[in-house]
Amino acid sequence: MAKKQSKQIKVQSVKGMRDILPGEQPSWDLVRDKVKNFGQNYGFERIDTPILEFTNLFKRTVGENTDIVSKEMYSFVTLGGDKLSLRPETTASVARSYIEHGMLNLPQPVKLYYLGPQFRHDKPQAGRYRQFWQFGFEAIGDSDPVIDAELISISYHLLKEIGLDIEIHVNSIGDSECRSHYLKVLKQYYQGHRKDLCADCKDRLNKNTLRLLDCKNKKCENLAAEAPQIIDHLCDECKNHFMLVLEYLDELDIKYTLNPKIVRGLDYYTKTTWEIMEIGQEGKLQALGGGGRYDDLISLIGGRPTPAVGFAMGIDRVIAKMQELKIKVDKPNSRDIYIAQLGIEARKKALNLVEELRATGFQVASNMSKKGLKDQLELANKKGVKYTLIIGQKEISDSTILIRDMESGVQEIIDIKKVKNEIRKRLDSYEAKSIKLKK
Ligand code: ATP
Ligand code: MG
Repeated sequence: MAKKQSKQIKVQSVKGMRDILPGEQPSWDLVRDKVKNFGQNYGFERIDTPILEFTNLFKRTVGENTDIVSKEMYSFVTLGGDKLSLRPETTASVARSYIEHGMLNLPQPVKLYYLGPQFRHDKPQAGRYRQFWQFGFEAIGDSDPVIDAELISISYHLLKEIGLDIEIHVNSIGDSECRSHYLKVLKQYYQGHRKDLCADCKDRLNKNTLRLLDCKNKKCENLAAEAPQIIDHLCDECKNHFMLVLEYLDELDIKYTLNPKIVRGLDYYTKTTWEIMEIGQEGKLQALGGGGRYDDLISLIGGRPTPAVGFAMGIDRVIAKMQELKIKVDKPNSRDIYIAQLGIEARKKALNLVEELRATGFQVASNMSKKGLKDQLELANKKGVKYTLIIGQKEISDSTILIRDMESGVQEIIDIKKVKNEIRKRLDSYEAKSIKLKK
């Protein structure tokens, strides 16, 4: 009976979703730490929003005719009848939270950052998952182009500091007024070439014309290269805004490429849009993230008109790139020790010692269920600790403990009362030595 049941369980993760195993965690930690560090240093506060939101939030903001909402959302009706979706992105949630918590009463702009999983029913392939991770920075409540430049700068420096080779591609897609004029011109252009469009673009033509510029089909790409550019159709205000963004970027010495095809896949963007491109083999570009101004988003969901700008970065792609470039991830300075014990009484003592040492700030590894010393020393070796403390029957009666240098194998007997000071002394001198060696 039991056998039959276990046959029915598929022991594999859901398609497009995967485990991030311990071996990969140091790279992930590096990115997560960098994001937290940038948040702190640039005055952005962390926000976490729920993974589930009402489906309408995304329909209204990301847009019904976008790929994300029309094809990629995990949506369902709860037993209570609520229509919910796993978040495909987080900006809409942050905007919802801004309104819900009356953040408009705080000094503006409110600067927030997030980091968490997103869900899109994408076609799984390299760099494309159904659960993937993003971090993002948002500045809500200010329309000044200097904020756009600051956010572009943060997205740029963060990836540069990780060691990636990147380019910033910028564009402006105007505001709802000048864009609606441009869209007429663009639609006219594409209608003239309708027969050459891919099936998806034929369908998009009346629903989301801007997205035709972004299609990856070869024929559509060629048409996009010849298409009228929005930059020639911006109103004075949008044009001035864009020019100032570029001036600030020049001032910050951030190189950028003007790219009229950066229109982004979501409806809520206005004015400045940008993508962070990673330069791959043979100069092939891949987007690691993107951002833009979204002055209409807050009012779209019922808030009073509130200008804002932000970006989101795909962590999975950043990690893949780090691995490809073999970017070295330094392990944090290890304050690890291992405790080996022999016999029940020694084990009891060792259990207490783990607590004592851990409370003083040491990282203490052990395998308390193991009995033999050889086994335990092997495990200590695998862990890569510098020192192992060994306690047995004899040490208990003498109130001593053995300290073993794992590199040289030399063991010394020390007074158990002095154990903390002894370890600290040795780890400190070990660190001082390795710092000297690095120099
Ligand atoms: P693409 O054109 O590659 O589908 P997108 O326009 O849908 O990208 P955005 O919504 O701009 O992506 O999300 C920002 C970043 O999030 C992307 O540049 C990418 O790094 C990451 N991202 C988006 N979708 C996925 C996914 N399915 N798997 C992994 N990362 C993703
Ligand atoms: Mg996509």
